[in-house]
Amino acid sequence: MSTTTTTTGAATDLLARPTSFSTAQRPVKIRLDRVTQTFPVRPEAGHRHGTTLTALQDVTLEIHDGEFLALVGPSGSGKSTLLDLLGGLTAPTSGRILIDGNPVSGTGHDRGIVFQQYALLPWKTALDNIAFGLTSTGAPRREARERARTYLDLVGLSGFADRYPHELSGGMKQRVAIARSLVYEPDILLMDEPFGALDAQTRERLQAELLGIWQHTGTTVVFITHSIEEAVFLGQRVAVLDTRPGRLKTVVRVDLDRSDPTADIRSDPAFVAARHHVWELLHSSGSAAVDQESHRTEGSTR
Ligand code: ADP
Ligand code: MG
Repeated sequence: MSTTTTTTGAATDLLARPTSFSTAQRPVKIRLDRVTQTFPVRPEAGHRHGTTLTALQDVTLEIHDGEFLALVGPSGSGKSTLLDLLGGLTAPTSGRILIDGNPVSGTGHDRGIVFQQYALLPWKTALDNIAFGLTSTGAPRREARERARTYLDLVGLSGFADRYPHELSGGMKQRVAIARSLVYEPDILLMDEPFGALDAQTRERLQAELLGIWQHTGTTVVFITHSIEEAVFLGQRVAVLDTRPGRLKTVVRVDLDRSDPTADIRSDPAFVAARHHVWELLHSSGSAAVDQESHRTEGSTR
């Protein structure tokens, strides 16, 4: 089994068997070009000047149209910072982010965002939470509700249209949040630890459902998690972020047959090997380990 590793985007690890569904030949959907993000840090007591924190440094990555990319890294490695940049909620300090070749300039309905906290409107039903965004951008109410119902069905909540958020479980609320993003039929779905607050069983079920939705819609997905298992289960490629400052350490390709999300993929030797590989990458501590990684990179396919 090959375990070569590269530092960035295009050429990636080839673990396990090839899959029929390859996005490598598809056009680049998202291009991150030496993206750096710094934040000012307020001065400590007794000091006049604050410092600067580098949350992300020189992140270069290409994500292909229709790809499912998982981004894994420890807390504070800049995952949410990266997602905010992709969503257009913030602009990078330096570097460029291109979507379909165009620089990101603010938010847009071409990108749906799902956060860990569902942020549903408590006074609206599940259906109206999904339809709300459409009506507020001018869509006729009936049409909006019809489309909302389609996506409520897609996330498996057909019978729950009239329930209010407090009447829904955590998993159901997150399904509504996903449907709310999908109702715009975005090209890209950005997800920041969306299943982090769910119990293990619900989480697994939603992971499988998300794979089904991804296969059904063909949406490009960038999925952030700090769970190695979740990243390897979902991601065709897993981008591994290092901390302080957040740097893209490597991208691992995980070729698993995900055509049947109900299959026990986690028992597949290829899954186990990939998970272990990412685990090693994340647990190789300190700069020495990072150097070792880039040594391995040299002489690889790129
Ligand atoms: P992650 O999502 O991987 O846990 P974040 O992207 O939230 O990490 O944060 C990366 C680093 O940047 C952290 O050290 C965090 O404290 C810092 N940070 C994030 N957003 C801001 C901000 N708006 N102002 C100052 N520091 C920030
Ligand atoms: Mg975060």
